[in-house]
Amino acid sequence: MDSYKQELSIIPQKRYFTHFGVANQAPSLSYTSGSATIQLLSVLVGIIVTLIYLLRCFMLSFLLVLLAFTFPVQAQWHRLPFQTMGTQAYVELWAEDDKLGKDLLLAVQNEFERINQQMSPYLASSELSLLNREAANRPVTISRELYQLLQQAEQLAVLSNGAFDISFASVGFSYDYRQHIKPSTEQLDSQRPLINYRHIKLLPDNQVQFAKAGVKIDLGGIAKGYAVEQAIGLLAKAGVKHALVTAGGDTRLLGDKRGRPWMVAIKHPRKDDDIVAQLPLADSAISTSGDYERFFIEDGVRYHHILDPKSGQSPSGLMSVTVLGPDATRTDSMSTTLFVMGLERGMAFIEQQAEFEAIFISSEHQLYFSSGLAQ
Ligand code: ADP
Ligand code: MG
Repeated sequence: MDSYKQELSIIPQKRYFTHFGVANQAPSLSYTSGSATIQLLSVLVGIIVTLIYLLRCFMLSFLLVLLAFTFPVQAQWHRLPFQTMGTQAYVELWAEDDKLGKDLLLAVQNEFERINQQMSPYLASSELSLLNREAANRPVTISRELYQLLQQAEQLAVLSNGAFDISFASVGFSYDYRQHIKPSTEQLDSQRPLINYRHIKLLPDNQVQFAKAGVKIDLGGIAKGYAVEQAIGLLAKAGVKHALVTAGGDTRLLGDKRGRPWMVAIKHPRKDDDIVAQLPLADSAISTSGDYERFFIEDGVRYHHILDPKSGQSPSGLMSVTVLGPDATRTDSMSTTLFVMGLERGMAFIEQQAEFEAIFISSEHQLYFSSGLAQ
């Protein structure tokens, strides 16, 4: 995370203040002449010239200060790192107006928090928790917004033949990576049939029902990307032309970094403060899924937060997958999908998706690029 953040702020914008260098440029008083009167005169003239010079400098500074107050519109970069959705987020934007810039930073933060309140599996008050409590018993009406995101998740589940499946949580809830807890073989056997996106019935009028008791859903593979996309949407609507919003491994860029590309780094999957690549990007989204975000190792097996819906267990073979595309909702969910599919199937899949590219890092530390990126 740290190296990632460092890379993002690699070229800080600084405003330059013009330095007039008064001391160096003040006329010298030390020239010599014939008579004492002339000397005195020349000293007087020197003092007057210096005074006039100083006055000019003073007036110039005064004018500059006045200008600053008359035109408080200061185009500049605004930046805000913040914690949300259990991860580190960051927004950077160019605003023509100082106040607007600051307001927009907070608007982005609030947008993340709003979505977190709606979709967090950890908050009992979230709509998602309501579904997990009630939807197996009865149809539950949810917001149009959550319903539409569930539709998007369903589309990808169908497209990926179930590699992406938000009902992975039916088993996922039995893992606790911090406490090193995993389901027993018996638990796994009984819970695995509950993973199936077809169990999630998207009914008319924003109603949702689960086909079986025990079905649980989690949006960890798509919600962050969605929030990033929403944040960029609100910035674009407010007239912002250059911005970066990132949360965890999901980043979306609006425009470029004023005349040059944004540089987005791909983390080294095994060295916390290292990166493996830096990509110059503009107007696009990039997401990385890795086996190093939340995991524990037991008996040489790495149990991490991405689950293969077919087995209820973490896929091995890859250490990370990065997806580039037009929007963060899809790059986020697709990076998780490709991770589950593995190198071969994942590569074949991404080659079929127009507008998307991918970078795979195998367990053998090999990098693989999809055809649009390979030179
Ligand atoms: P992060 O940015 O949190 O590392 P990823 O994009 O890599 O997230 O997605 C991992 C998250 O996706 C997991 O924490 C989990 O919530 C969810 N997830 C895990 N396996 C699947 C799956 N097969 N289908 C959909 N979502 C999944
Ligand atoms: Mg993802």
